Amino acid sequence: MIKFCKKILNLLLLLLFVSCISHKIPETQFYVFTGNSEWTKQEKDLCYIAISNFKNIDSTKVILKKTNIPCQGQAQPLLRTIFKKPKKRTYVIKVQDCNHKNPLCFSVLPDSAKIGLIGHELAHIIDYKTKNFFQITATGVKYSLSKKYKTKLEYQTDSITIINNMGSEKLIFYKFITNSSFADDKYLRRIHKYYMNSEDITRIMRNSSK
Ligand SMILES: [Zn+2]
Repeated sequence: MIKFCKKILNLLLLLLFVSCISHKIPETQFYVFTGNSEWTKQEKDLCYIAISNFKNIDSTKVILKKTNIPCQGQAQPLLRTIFKKPKKRTYVIKVQDCNHKNPLCFSVLPDSAKIGLIGHELAHIIDYKTKNFFQITATGVKYSLSKKYKTKLEYQTDSITIINNMGSEKLIFYKFITNSSFADDKYLRRIHKYYMNSEDITRIMRNSSK
């Protein structure tokens, strides 16, 4: 029970943290790049390549933020917009900022791997856009409580990324992370447990090109 309460508390803290992001996106602009470190023009261009691979997401407001996170990427709706209609919400994609604590981070990823990572986070947004407030909350609770649900959701998200022409980028991301000398054992165990492996990525790429 204590473990359960701790997980709920962590989830609430996470939501509160997300709600504290105060950046506003101007009416005419859909993507804002922010965070602890600057985004290079090349990095922004790679994000736009990932965006262009999806239909119906170019008019979605997204804040892309470089910050310290326990993984390489995260996507959530901005809490204060969560009650709005899916297309009126703002979403936040966070990527790992580079600093002495995080040597394995967004800026060191190969260009294709950056596209694969942003593509995966955009696929989470595609999923959020099909859900109302209650469904998003239920997803968040199930994601933090059930390992099985987390694996299923990440598998589904990777499948959406691959079907939207980013299979090879996803594969490059996976291979780079799993071969990196900066990835510690705990992180690698998490990658192997929750995310699609290279055989599955290749199989879905083959099937979706038929
Ligand atoms: Zn994910």
